[in-house]
Amino acid sequence: MFLDRERFVEQLQEIEDSGLWKQERLITGPQGAKISTSEGEALNFCANNYLGLSSHPAILETAHSALDSHGFGLSSVRFICGTQDIHKQLEQRISTFLSTEDSILYTSCFDANGGLFETLLGPEDAVISDELNHASIIDGVRLCKAKRFRYSHADMSDLQRCLTESGDARTRMVVTDGVFSMHGDLTPLDEIAALCDEHHALLVVDDSHSTGFIGKTGRGTAEHFGVQDRVDLITSTLGKALGGASGGFTTGRKELIELLRQRSRPYLFSNTLAPAITAAGIRVLDLIDDEPERVQRSQSNTLRFRQGMTAAGFDITPGIHPIVPIMLGDERKTMEMAEAMNQRGIFVVGFSYPVVPRGQARIRVQISAGHEIDQIDHAITVFTEVGKDLGLLN
Ligand SMILES: *Cc1c(COP(=O)(O)O)cnc(C)c1O
Repeated sequence: MFLDRERFVEQLQEIEDSGLWKQERLITGPQGAKISTSEGEALNFCANNYLGLSSHPAILETAHSALDSHGFGLSSVRFICGTQDIHKQLEQRISTFLSTEDSILYTSCFDANGGLFETLLGPEDAVISDELNHASIIDGVRLCKAKRFRYSHADMSDLQRCLTESGDARTRMVVTDGVFSMHGDLTPLDEIAALCDEHHALLVVDDSHSTGFIGKTGRGTAEHFGVQDRVDLITSTLGKALGGASGGFTTGRKELIELLRQRSRPYLFSNTLAPAITAAGIRVLDLIDDEPERVQRSQSNTLRFRQGMTAAGFDITPGIHPIVPIMLGDERKTMEMAEAMNQRGIFVVGFSYPVVPRGQARIRVQISAGHEIDQIDHAITVFTEVGKDLGLLN
């Protein structure tokens, strides 16, 4: 027995003592605006279910019939015997949806980012990354041998500095989240694209918190900023707005996608996406186009909640994204408020240091097209009552 249990027990104790223990709540049914939990029913305001498509009847129906027509799983990676017609169809559908040249599926966006940089960049190259980029981008960049540059969050003059300092690299790649999940802010993609043009740099955007619902027709941050033809690669997930099961993809310039297909390690060495998820992915993109009111509802619900909460006196970071941070500042009050909301059947999560800077604790709410208007209004009412109870509102 070589396991030094004490070391791990101590480390676990440290996590608990510093208030960083992550507790998992049990949901006993499907994901949705209304969920069943071990403590009863709740309205869910903390899922990435932006379009209300997680467990939507049409998606379930497609997934069921794909189980019958294409089976449960392939027991293979793509290039050995793991590619079905529906995998090619979904890749094609993603390319059509986002007006890109080609697409490649992964079993998660974490893998899409993990397999991107090492494949496309070598020691002669440079990768330039926003300091708040998602963990999967940070890990993906760590795996590659390119020179690394990091700019202050969404700071265009600092990005310019990185582009100037990396001037002698063979290929320069700027990579950013389209939307940052703790703040719900959109990166200024039009300005970034202009800088990339000026400095002949590739532009990669992780649009996991945008694909399907940001932009007039849900094409993401590039559509919002009118720079769809200026983004070289987009990575995104099927695990948020697009059905919420799992899966990810990279889409963009065809030579880059082809190289990923030949060399990207999570693609080559990890199992193919399950058929039910693949077929449902196609249906999700069709639904977004056939029923545009879903994207509009995500946007109008978001506006209603943001306006209601601001009118109630809460400090809401301005913006358009369904991620709505309710800034409370104080760590303890934030946890108390989240607890009180949960007790009243509104499922929300508080975030405090070190997930966000000290003194910037917040409750992060996520609005969905699947919320009814009266559910949005009810959440505002409960927030207001609890806020008054805790002395956070006048
Ligand atoms: C959620 C998220 C991911 C991970 O996506 P998965 O498909 O769940 O692995 C990657 N990048 C960003 C920006 C995300 O928000």
